Amino acid sequence: MSKCVFLWSGDLKSFIGKLSETYQVYLPVKKGTQRFYKKYVPDLNNIVMGEVRPFEPLKAFFFRAKEVVAESFENRVPSPPADKPLAILGVKACDLKGFKVEDFVFSNNTDPDPFYLKNRERNLIISSDCTCAIDTCFCLALGLKPFPQENFDLNFSPIQDGYIVEVGSSKGESLIKQHTSYFKEVAKVQEDERYRQRNQVLQDVETNLKQFDVPSQDRFQGAVERNFDSKIWEDEAKTCVECGACNAICPTCHCFLLYDQKDEKKMERLRIWDSCMIKDFARVAGGANPRKKLWMRLRNRFEKKFDFFPKVANVYACTGCGRCISACPAKIDIRKVLKRLVIGS
Ligand code: SF4
Ligand code: SF4
Repeated sequence: MSKCVFLWSGDLKSFIGKLSETYQVYLPVKKGTQRFYKKYVPDLNNIVMGEVRPFEPLKAFFFRAKEVVAESFENRVPSPPADKPLAILGVKACDLKGFKVEDFVFSNNTDPDPFYLKNRERNLIISSDCTCAIDTCFCLALGLKPFPQENFDLNFSPIQDGYIVEVGSSKGESLIKQHTSYFKEVAKVQEDERYRQRNQVLQDVETNLKQFDVPSQDRFQGAVERNFDSKIWEDEAKTCVECGACNAICPTCHCFLLYDQKDEKKMERLRIWDSCMIKDFARVAGGANPRKKLWMRLRNRFEKKFDFFPKVANVYACTGCGRCISACPAKIDIRKVLKRLVIGS
């Protein structure tokens, strides 16, 4: 087991305050029934390290929704920014898996993206366990657990009176050493509490899987290919209104659009998030469109996530976060589509 220490809950804000001397700190804050990332300021309230994933996907910090990528037709490879690096707290296991896809796309050896790398290389990730599940959570079906196991610098497991803090990298280790006065040894009774709590959340997600009859990822292989000409796509796409919310909210979706803009002084090239569900996404300059119909675009979305990505990157481009289920105004439920693909109805 990796090194663990205990942080008393009364010291959390002070510890975050220390982090904010070196980092721009963002962390989940509860508003109504949702959690949103907010920039840390000393009087920030309603911080939630536990519960479930925030409303926004983690990718928004690294692959920005809108970014200037060139000015006046000169390359704008970013120099190290003057502002502080990012520290993002309360990141959940489902969003950490999103890194596997985003890193594959933007950090590959042949054509790395300097804008993504700039944000990714300097960051500090302090993840945390889910302490409950909502009815859209289905991470277990994608082979994930509702508590982080990799890709973090520190992980916080909320328990009574504080947090068990697990070290996940050398950066995390030095942070603990730097702020050693905040941390104590973990007692056996606290480890037991974490074990019980993790098991409870595992059971809650299991209950979701049973209730919605969600197949597990070991049954996904070949499911899209087998159903390529199936009526499932037309049937499922009937209510889609082509809003693109499922792409925007997804921690693994990464398609973008480039466009130019001119003001009085200069030309700029911008990159914004794009959506493969929108009609013009695949349209080419001559006007031809290989995916004219909505059902073709829905099929393409599933093909990319459950056929293309496992083939090229050995990972399903879905983390089971359930955000697209909550965001879809047409009530298209990815779990139901996967079930239909697997059982072939
Ligand atoms: S496809 Fe849906 S459930 Fe899967 S990672 Fe994207 S938003 Fe989450
Ligand atoms: S969120 Fe739903 S309605 Fe909007 S594009 Fe995606 S599938 Fe269609």
